Amino acid sequence: MNQRILCEVDNCTYWGKGNRCNADVIYVTNQTAEEAIDTEDTGCKTFKPEE
Ligand code: SF4
Repeated sequence: MNQRILCEVDNCTYWGKGNRCNADVIYVTNQTAEEAIDTEDTGCKTFKPEE
């Protein structure tokens, strides 16, 4: 895996040590009905809670 996605969501199935995301690809969405303006307006749709 050559991607370098860093993520702090440590209860995600794809999360790994060093805040590395181990998913091959992630899908980031706009969380608002308007144009995203700030960081908080975006989110990772690939997130999957650990079981
Ligand atoms: S899939 Fe999304 S939420 Fe999960 S570790 Fe990767 S970037 Fe973070």
